[in-house]
Amino acid sequence: MYRVAVIPGDGIGPEVIDGAVRVLKAVTGRVRFEYYEGGVDVFQECGSPIREEDLEEIRRSDAVLFGATTTPFDLPGYRSLILTLRKELGLYANLRIIPDLRTGREIVIVRENSEGLYFGIGAVVNGRAVDVRLITREGAERIARFAVEQAKARGSFITFVHKANVLTGDKFFRRIVREVAGEEGVEVRDAIIDSFTIKLVRNPWEHGVILSENLFGDILSDLATVHAGSIGIVPSGNYGDGIALFEPVHGSAPDIAGKGIANPIGAILSGAMLLDYLGLDGSLIRAAVRGYVVNGELTPDMGGRARTEDVVRGIIGEIEDLL
Ligand code: ATP
Ligand code: MG
Repeated sequence: MYRVAVIPGDGIGPEVIDGAVRVLKAVTGRVRFEYYEGGVDVFQECGSPIREEDLEEIRRSDAVLFGATTTPFDLPGYRSLILTLRKELGLYANLRIIPDLRTGREIVIVRENSEGLYFGIGAVVNGRAVDVRLITREGAERIARFAVEQAKARGSFITFVHKANVLTGDKFFRRIVREVAGEEGVEVRDAIIDSFTIKLVRNPWEHGVILSENLFGDILSDLATVHAGSIGIVPSGNYGDGIALFEPVHGSAPDIAGKGIANPIGAILSGAMLLDYLGLDGSLIRAAVRGYVVNGELTPDMGGRARTEDVVRGIIGEIEDLL
């Protein structure tokens, strides 16, 4: 049995995670789900968005399934639960898969998630503000290896997006990506960040595995979600050396929470990525989602009138037909 830690969170988090867990249970009996609380309520009780003893248990799990939590702007000392988990669990690679549900095409983005401008070294001294954009050989090698694995698994290539013509760090990063990919026989294509944004808008499905550092990757991966039709269907994975965490890209969506109309597909496809990670094969879930989307009623964010429950039941019905 695999142990999966489930952190539903708040807002629509619990609504979509409930759907994802039911879908996972429909495809495999080999996973045990253990639930944990986290977020503002836990912070107010113990000063951290997740209890220390829960974090220990989560570290011992095989993978994490995360919903969403609301991060208030005005709560002193609060750091969001997902940022806390990424740091505590050493999750350095962020993988977003933006699906075109009707054709099966995907945009695949690998974002370095621990270095770059978000490493957290910054200072204001004498009227000058400086942020350090850290790229280490170790960090570049491990994210390059991760992107190479993604490209190999898809029989694809890497598009490395950078500003190496200006930034020393990207020149260094680019050389390491080429070294690592060269050893594995994976092709690397170059793209300069500014002109690449136009390509990502115009021809989004043609770039193999898109790899970039933290800030560029952050912007590109949000931009790319517009091609999905709704942010509610985009899944993601956060990977480290020990454990991986899977979550829909969307947030807690307080405007629709409790109405029963949240799109569960992003959470369900995150569950499919989780199964792949465990070696249990998420392709049955992806096939069921595509099958459902052809004729099934969708939620309002996709222009339909379905409720969360209709979509979850419809996808489970497709799984039963495929099994
Ligand atoms: P956060 O700060 O937590 O990332 P956010 O405000 O940036 O939150 P979301 O919570 O993702 O972003 O919401 C953005 C918009 O997309 C909202 O109008 C929300 O209702 C809608 N939305 C997000 N997720 C879904 C979903 N699963 N189904 C339907 N609509 C969604
Ligand atoms: Mg957001």
